[in-house]
Amino acid sequence: MICVSLGRTRHKMVVAEHRALAERGAELVELRLDWLSHLPDVGRLIENRPTPVIITCRRAEDRGRWRGTEEQRQTLLRSAIVSGVEYVDLEEDVARTIPRYGKTKRIVSYHNFDETPVDLQQIHNRLARLDPDIIKIVTMANSPGDITRMLQLVKHSDKPTAGFCMGEIGLPSRILCGRYGSPLTYCTFNADRELAPGQIQFEEMRDLYHYDRIGLDTQVFGVVGDPIAHSMSPLVHNIALQKAGIDAVYIPFRIPQDTLARSLNDLDWLGIRGFSVTIPHKEAAASIAIRESPTVHTIGAANTLIRTPDGQWESENTDYDAILQSVLAGLGVESDDASILAGRKVILLGAGGAARSAAVAMSAHGALVTIASRTRKRAETLADEIGCQHCGWENRGAGEPDILINTTPVGMHPNVNDTPFNANWLNENMLVFDTVYNPEQTLLIKHARERNCKVVTGIEMFVRQAARQFELFTSQPCPSEEMRASLRAAISPIGKPY
Ligand code: NAP
Repeated sequence: MICVSLGRTRHKMVVAEHRALAERGAELVELRLDWLSHLPDVGRLIENRPTPVIITCRRAEDRGRWRGTEEQRQTLLRSAIVSGVEYVDLEEDVARTIPRYGKTKRIVSYHNFDETPVDLQQIHNRLARLDPDIIKIVTMANSPGDITRMLQLVKHSDKPTAGFCMGEIGLPSRILCGRYGSPLTYCTFNADRELAPGQIQFEEMRDLYHYDRIGLDTQVFGVVGDPIAHSMSPLVHNIALQKAGIDAVYIPFRIPQDTLARSLNDLDWLGIRGFSVTIPHKEAAASIAIRESPTVHTIGAANTLIRTPDGQWESENTDYDAILQSVLAGLGVESDDASILAGRKVILLGAGGAARSAAVAMSAHGALVTIASRTRKRAETLADEIGCQHCGWENRGAGEPDILINTTPVGMHPNVNDTPFNANWLNENMLVFDTVYNPEQTLLIKHARERNCKVVTGIEMFVRQAARQFELFTSQPCPSEEMRASLRAAISPIGKPY
C-alpha cells in the first residue's frame, strides 16, 4: 500500500490537504505532527479523518522538525494511541517505553540518513523484539548494492517489514519494495515538498509506476545514468508498457560514473531484463556486453542493454537508427531507403555522443559531413575517426548545407532564447534537425519554419530510439503514438500525463 506523507505548518492546512488527498484516492496518510508550527492538537487532526492515518512526530536528531520537549512528544504519541489512530510510528528507543494499547498498530522504525549499514539484519532483529506490527527500516543508499541488500532483507523477513532506501540512488527500492513483501512505501503529498530524501509524489508512484500492481512476476526494466532525475524515459516507457498491457515496470537507476559493471552486478538479484543507457555510461555499456550489434561496434557506444537467457548483456545503439529515420522522414522518405543521402552536405553542430551517432549514420550512407564544435579539438578528433570534415565553430554558417543537425544542448530549456545557428544562415532548401526536445519548438526550429525549411524536432528522435528499445525489451510492437503524446504533454505547460 502507498502511504502519503503529509506535513504542513498549520492544522487547518493539514485537515484540508488530508481531505484533498482522500479525494485524490489516497488510502493511508502519514500525519507528520513535527511539521506543525504550534503544539499539535491530535484530536482536531483525526476527528472525521477521511482515511486511516499513521501518526509520526520526528525529533530533530532523526531529521524531523520537532522543537518541543521529548516529554511533550511522547505525550502526543500516547494520546494518539488512546484516541485509536490506526498506526503510530515509534522510533526504536521510544518503542521500548510506549506499550501497545487498544487497536492502534505499532510501526517500530529505524532511520539512517548517512548509509545503509552492513548489519541490517541485526537492526531488524532488535526492532523485532519491540512488539511491532510493522518493522520500518529506511536508510540512505550510497550505491546500487544497498538497494539489493535492503530488498533482500524485506523479502526474507518473517515479520512485515517496510524497507527501502532514501536518496536518488535509493528510488528503485521505494518503487520495488512491495514486490518483495513490504506492506508500505511512502510518497509525498506534493512534488515540491519532500518529507524524506528521494520521495516521489503519490500520483507518480500510483499512476506512472503502478506500485500496487508490481509483483514477483512483473518484469523490470530501467534506465541507467547520472544524473537521471530528469530523464523522460521512465515516463514514455511506462506509458507504452501500460498501453500494450504488459506486466512490467521501467525505473530510473542513478549509477555513478565508472561504476556501471559493478553496479549491474550488484543489482543482478533483481533480475532486471533490460536497460536504456544514458550519459555517462554509453561507452561502458558497449564494453560490458558479451554481444554487440554492428552499430555498437562501429560507434563504440551503446544506449541499450538486453539480458540474455544466461544472464549476460547484449548491447544495441538505437540512437543511430533514430537519427537516420528522423532525417529520412524529414526528407519525406518513409522507407529505410537512405540512398537519398548520398552526396548531401551535412553540417553537424557538436562533437559529443549524439554527434558521433549522427556522423556515423550520415557518413555510412554517403552524406558529406562537416562537424563544427565549440571545442575545435573534439570536432577534429571525431572527424578524423569517422573520416569526415570539420570546421571552426565560427565558420559553421559559411557552407550551404542541405542538412543541418544540432546535437549541442543550445536552445534547451531553460535557455529557450538561444540558438546554435543564426537565422540568416538558413535557407528554404535546407532540412533542419534539432535533437533538443525540450522545448520541441526550439528557437532554431522556429527560425527554420519562418524560412520555410523542412524541420525535424528532437521528439522524433527521442520517440524512435525509445520505441526501438521497447521492441527489443518486450518483442512487441511499440505504441509510439502514446509515447509521443506523453512526451509532448510532459514538456508542455499542461504537465505530466498521469
Ligand atoms: P555530449 O556528449 O555532452 O556533447 C555535447 C556537445 O555539445 C559537445 O560537443 C559540446 O561541446 C557541445 N556544447 C555544449 N554546450 C555548448 C554551447 N553552449 N555551445 C556550443 N556547443 C556546446 O552530449 P550528447 O549526448 O551528445 O547530447 C547533446 C544534446 O543532444 C543533448 O543536450 C540533447 O539535447 C540532444 N540529444 C537528444 C536526443 C533525442 O533523443 N532527441 C538524444 C541524445 C541527445 P564542448 O565539447 O565544447 O563542451
